[in-house]
Amino acid sequence: MSYGLFGDDVLFFQRLLKTEGLYNKALDGIWGKFTEKGATEFYQRSDALKEQIGAFDHRTEKHICTLALKAQREARHFMNRLLSNNINAKMISGTRTYDEQNKLYRQGRYNNPGPIVTKARGGRSNHNFGIAWDIGIFTANGGYSSNHQDYIKAAEFGISDHLEWGGNWRSFPDTPHYQLKTVFPIAIVRTKFESGETYIA
Ligand SMILES: [Zn+2]
Repeated sequence: MSYGLFGDDVLFFQRLLKTEGLYNKALDGIWGKFTEKGATEFYQRSDALKEQIGAFDHRTEKHICTLALKAQREARHFMNRLLSNNINAKMISGTRTYDEQNKLYRQGRYNNPGPIVTKARGGRSNHNFGIAWDIGIFTANGGYSSNHQDYIKAAEFGISDHLEWGGNWRSFPDTPHYQLKTVFPIAIVRTKFESGETYIA
């Protein structure tokens, strides 16, 4: 049985709804009428942003709706800036639950197949709090570009006052990555997210 955005991870969705002020009951992981009400409101506000700012390809839409509402707004403006400057970008990653993050972390470690793609366990990535997304740049014939120069060029149009670009990170530059600027270090963001307090300026 699936409950919507985050599969069976009801607690994760409740936390996100609570940080948005759309749910103020217990964070108990049980889907009841107040969770339903909050989720419905969340979907309606997501749809309204889509209508106001613009809709994108299927893949981008799938990820954009997993973001916190303020991040959805910024991400839609961001996509408009890229596309109107002929940067053929799609959002290829949005919010991941802690469980999804742990699965990704295990990839390439502990004898699991695939390359290592993250250094963050569940609850340790900005992707776990609804504020971060990754883009892919695609060529005219639909091929995925892994050329850093394409991502650096995209950032010329992608960066805004409200966004932080992973390409500016000194220790581990991550050119496809964007996130909302936050005033808190990630450990505080995590604590606030888990207790349903707002952490978005
Ligand atoms: Zn990322």
